[in-house]
Parts: sequence; C-alpha cells; structure tokens
Amino acid sequence: MARGGRQGQGEPVDWVTRAADDAVRHAGEGNLVTVASGASPSGPIHLGNLREFITPHFVAEELRRRGVPVRHLHSWDDFDRFRKVPAGVPAEWADHIGRPLTAVPDPWECHVSWAEHFKAPLQESLRELGVEMEEISQTEMYTSGAYRDQVLLAVSRRDEIEAVLAKHRTKKVTAGEDASAQEAADLADSVANEDDEEGDPTAASSADAIARFPYRPYCRECGRDTVTTTAYDDATTTLGYTCSSCGFEGTTDLSTDTDGKLVWKVDWPMRWAYESVNFEPAGRDHMTPGSSYTVGTEIVSSIFDWRAPARVIYAFVGFAGVQKMSSSAGGVPTATDALRILESPMLRWLYVRRAPTQAFDIDFGPSVVRLYDEWDALGRKAADPAKSDVATLAWHRSSETASAGRLPTPAVPVPFRALSSVADVTAGSAELISRIIESSGFPHDSVADLEPRLSKAMQWTAEHVPAAERTTVRETPDAERLSSLSEDEELWLRIFLDRLPDDGDLDAVTSVVYGVPKVARGLGFDDAPTDQVKADQKDFFRLLYNLLVDADRGPRLPTLVLALGPDRVRRLLTPPAGGS
Ligand SMILES: [Zn+2]
Ligand SMILES: [Zn+2]
Repeated sequence: MARGGRQGQGEPVDWVTRAADDAVRHAGEGNLVTVASGASPSGPIHLGNLREFITPHFVAEELRRRGVPVRHLHSWDDFDRFRKVPAGVPAEWADHIGRPLTAVPDPWECHVSWAEHFKAPLQESLRELGVEMEEISQTEMYTSGAYRDQVLLAVSRRDEIEAVLAKHRTKKVTAGEDASAQEAADLADSVANEDDEEGDPTAASSADAIARFPYRPYCRECGRDTVTTTAYDDATTTLGYTCSSCGFEGTTDLSTDTDGKLVWKVDWPMRWAYESVNFEPAGRDHMTPGSSYTVGTEIVSSIFDWRAPARVIYAFVGFAGVQKMSSSAGGVPTATDALRILESPMLRWLYVRRAPTQAFDIDFGPSVVRLYDEWDALGRKAADPAKSDVATLAWHRSSETASAGRLPTPAVPVPFRALSSVADVTAGSAELISRIIESSGFPHDSVADLEPRLSKAMQWTAEHVPAAERTTVRETPDAERLSSLSEDEELWLRIFLDRLPDDGDLDAVTSVVYGVPKVARGLGFDDAPTDQVKADQKDFFRLLYNLLVDADRGPRLPTLVLALGPDRVRRLLTPPAGGS
C-alpha cells in the first residue's frame, strides 16, 4: 500500500474517504496535508456553522488513520468588523460598529472581548467532541505583521485584482437568489464577507481604484473601518484615508503599520497560499457565481501562486422544535445545547453519516429517543467486523479519534427511553433513577456507570419534553374519587395495598400490579389471565393512574410505583383521615 493511500481494498468508501483522497492529491503524495476551517466569532456559533469545523476534522482523522502527516488549521476571523448590535445587548454598543471583534468589549463582562465571548463556548464543545485544531487569530496575524509581504503584494497588483473582482461583480448572482431566506440570513450573520462591495458605489471610475483598494485600514483615531481611502503612493507604500465617523484624515504606511486587513475576497485566497491549504470546506453561500470562492480561485493562482484547495460544499442544518427550546443562541441551537442531550459521539454521527452536501434537521423533540435507539443498534452492528459497511464506518468515525481514542460513552448503555421515563417520574434524583434502573433489569455498580447518558436523559426530560407530556404526581389523595369507588375498585386497592412489598424490586412490583385483578377473581399471582382478568387489569391500571398522576395513562406502572416509593403510593391510595 502506498503511503497516503487507502487501507484495505474491501473497506467501505464514504465522503470522508473521497475528501481525504482529494486532499492528498492536492498536497502531493508524501507531503504534509493542511486542512482548514474558518469562522467569525461575531455571535453564537450554531449547529449549522459546526459543519465548518467538523468537516475538515473528519478528513484530518481519516488521514491520521492512514498515517499521513496532517494538520487542521482553524482561522478565527476575529479581525472582522463588528456589524450590528444584536437584541439583548445595550444600545451603546452601536458605538463599536466598524471596530474589530477583538476590540469590542464583552457586554456580559466574562471575557476579554466580544470575539472571545463567542469563541469560548464553541472551543469547549469542540474539546468534548474530540475536535483538535491549531487555532489562528486573524487579529494576531494581521497586527503582528505576519501577512505584510502578502499585503504589499496584493496592493502592488491591485489593478489585476480589481479586474478579476470587476469581472465577477458584473455577472454576480447574489447568494440570496440561490438560497432560502434563512440561508441568506445565515449568510449575513455568520459569513465574513465584508468586501469590495462596501466601497463607495458612487465613486467615479478614476477614483474607483482607490475606493476599491484591496486593503482597508481601521481608523487610527477611532478604531473603526469607516474609512475612505484617498491616495496611495507605491514608492513610499503610504495610504491616505479619511474617516467618516470621527473626521480623522491621515496616512498609514503598509510597510511598517499593521492596522488593517485585506478585503475578504483577497484575504481568503491569500491565506490559502500563506498556510498552504490543501482542503477547506465552504458553505453553499460561498459557492455561487461571483462568490468569494470563485473569485478567490482566480486570485490565488494569478497573484499568490497557489491552487485553490480541494473542497466540499456543505449544505445548511435546520432545527426542528427550536421554538420549544430555550437556547443559548436565542433560538438557534449551538453545540453546547446539543451536547446537553446527546452523547458527543452521537453529535459527531449526525454530521458524518451524511454527505456534507445533504441538508438535514436536528430535532431535540421526541425523536431523540429513537435516535438513541438507532445509535445503540448501530453500535451492536459495528461490534461485528463481518457486518462492516458505510454505516458502521460512520459509527467508528463518530466514536473514536486518533488522540482521544474512544470518546465517552456509558459503561452500561441503558436505553435512553428507560432513563428518560424514569427521570420523568423521579423529579431528577440521579441516585433514585439509578436504583430504579437497577431493579428494572440493568445491573450496574454506580451512577457513574450510567454517565454521561443519565445526565443527558435528565436534561432532555427537563428541557425538551413538553409539560403536557410530563408526569405530574398528585400532591394529595383524590378524596372525591376515593369516596366513590366501585366494589371491584375497592377490592383491588385493598389487595394491592396488602400485597405491595416495602422494598421490592421491579419484578416483585410487576407481579403485584398484574396479579391484583387475578386474585380478585380467585386466581393466583402466577396464573394465566382470563379475558375477564385482562379487562379488569385495564380498569385497575386506569384507576391507579387516576389516583397517582391524575391521568388515564402514564409511564409503566411498576416503574412509577417504584419511583414513588411504597409510602407515597399508600398515602395516595388511601382516603384522607376524616374525609367525607
Ligand atoms: Zn463573556
Ligand atoms: Zn475614525
């Protein structure tokens, strides 16, 4: 097998395999492969943006598996301008519009800047997801002068760059025409696309070359990018500008000063070349005619002597049931939100099991239960090498990374369905859930054996199961119902209270719950039910639900009885003393 080639001829092939092949081809066999991602920390980074990070991560992991040297570089576009004041932020933050995200203070006062406030939660989630990347701050890169040669190169060849930009400007199809309203909104919010279009559109053709200058300084006086470039001297590399915010008129020397950045459509291809990027994903919005990718592809080869990286285009991720949840992103869920209810390998799995070009919805509603069942079934299949296919390959990619090994999963994988229904009736005590789960046929040594799934089941039940579907245990006995019992009902309750064990396990309680109507008809606990007994069981169960949880149905009765404990059950099934 050639170094860098695929392992095992019979192995299934998925989008990750193909993207890794493309990346190796771009880098050349035997060379270090650089996969890249980039994001602007302008606001909460939601689950759609997560594709930007996790797509190159899977490609890097595939290359590590093959023994190919690889690095995942992530660029934080934190030198981008602050664009608008979102809801919930003090209005005076409008003063910061036009300043770099790293120069805007954190309104919540927990981080050093606006940018850091939105990076931090994602960085934490990525660690939990096993995504390791080398992070680069564009503020640090630009202000340290790392890109000085590239800036001077772009500026010296600004006419060629402008010719490319102008060509695409005239036939530009906006992303909005090709995308849904939601996508267009995403585009506006999350994509670092401040660009030449923000130059003065009324500038006459002779002034155009300066108005559309490929480099934009932040005003030395007020720190905003609300500047109009007025003159450039190639000999002295001095750029003149005026600021419309504060009225400052001055110059910046591109050979010594580091107070600005290349416009986005030049900045992106510059970085492909500077970092030798071989693979980088891009959202659909970047891929339309006239988009930054199209323009960048021309500029990177004509100006920066590099080839546009191999790529995949990723589609958007939608959210079902979002309106029901309170999200840290104000309605659009983030990885932090998802990891409150999904084990980290499962969240990885949602992204790796589909090609990036496929859009999909993430649903935090009732389908989470089925998702866990599906995941557990796939895990059992993946344990058998004879059943290896694309689905089990996705399971392996989700479950382990080169450096972390297996990501955290419970030692005892109790079905999520069981954990959440017990969580529902126990009002959130992990110890109690553990005891009931133990007596329900899932032996384990401690609460820790059920984690991290137990916590996620508790959180999901508390945060995503609508109140109407939750079980509400009665506070007091239903005196009215208890005073109007039929003869059969009175008999059932007497037998039930008589036989209910004080410290029974699930089997013992199940036997009593089902056995009561049999005993009432003169049968034994272990006798097969007659048709009459079956009808009685239905009525008896409804009576218990009425008296315990004020509903006609609910969680499995033996589980419910165990969760409430014998004392509380006896109290709710006994008429209050002195009652009518
Ligand atoms: Zn903060
Ligand atoms: Zn200014």
